[in-house]
Amino acid sequence: MPAQLIDGKALAAKVREEVAAEVDELGDVGLTTVLVGDDAASDVYIRGKHKAATSVGIQANDLRLPADIPEDELLQLLADLNADDAVDGILVQLPLPSHIDDIKAIEAIDPGKDVDGFHPINAGLLYLGRPNLVPGTPLGIMRMLAEYAIETKGARAVVVGRSNIVGKPVAHLLLQAHATVTICHSRTVDLERHTLDADILVAAVGRLHVVGADMVKAGSTVIDVGMNRTEEGLFGDVDPSAAERAAYMTPVPGGVGPMTIAMLLKNTVTAARARRGLVSGVT
Ligand code: NDP
Repeated sequence: MPAQLIDGKALAAKVREEVAAEVDELGDVGLTTVLVGDDAASDVYIRGKHKAATSVGIQANDLRLPADIPEDELLQLLADLNADDAVDGILVQLPLPSHIDDIKAIEAIDPGKDVDGFHPINAGLLYLGRPNLVPGTPLGIMRMLAEYAIETKGARAVVVGRSNIVGKPVAHLLLQAHATVTICHSRTVDLERHTLDADILVAAVGRLHVVGADMVKAGSTVIDVGMNRTEEGLFGDVDPSAAERAAYMTPVPGGVGPMTIAMLLKNTVTAARARRGLVSGVT
């Protein structure tokens, strides 16, 4: 029997409804995004985030800065946003122009307002098993597993990819959810040996169908994070025919993608709650 598809679009709509209810309860919740320069892809991402934020009642402020803004001016602007009480969440769209150090910009954001979860303090808290603000994609993956009642405790989880925004954080969340976690990457020898052992397989590589159907364990759950644009459309890292073997699988598009923005909104209310002393900052 083919896998049940995990409907990220429907689940993202549900998360947005939850966030809208929380925003209603909290009153004004503010998210400021910062885009430096006029990169077309970044512009599309930022527009998508604003549309989603506005749809749930978050006050979204779209700061656009010239591509040649000096680094110190950007850092000063971030300091001003940190001090601004109306701002609950700050997001700096990456990548930044080459004369600005991405790391410096991320570190300039107040960790309590870091709704992307990229600040070293938030990464460190996740590593320590005390997640506060966690990047949206890994958070969305965990929510999908929970929603479809996929057991993580004792499961063998294999994460392919070790980036700071997907691979590493999702591996930590799975570990915290009591899975036995293996992280694979470009130097992994015999990838298939690992993936075939996975009850939960997360592919976050960015290479078209790097995980073949015959590399997937029968009855497993496959989470495909990959977004590979081709002339024929958008495809994932996993060959879609793996659905013949898996029990659950995320489609591309319509799986992980929609969840990422929804969880950014969730992070914004998490930050807003914590700033109002309503919770101790848990996701
Ligand atoms: P990165 O390029 O930062 O990381 C890719 C990882 O894949 C690296 O750790 C790399 O290993 C590993 N890798 C590369 N080639 C292989 C291989 N042949 N076998 C095993 N591992 C390999 O990518 P991201 O984590 O940022 O993104 C991954 C994918 O997910 C991309 O397609 C991206 O577009 C997509 N994405 C989708 C999102 C969504 O919302 N749906 C959000 C974020 C990302 P090494 O470290 O050794 O170089």
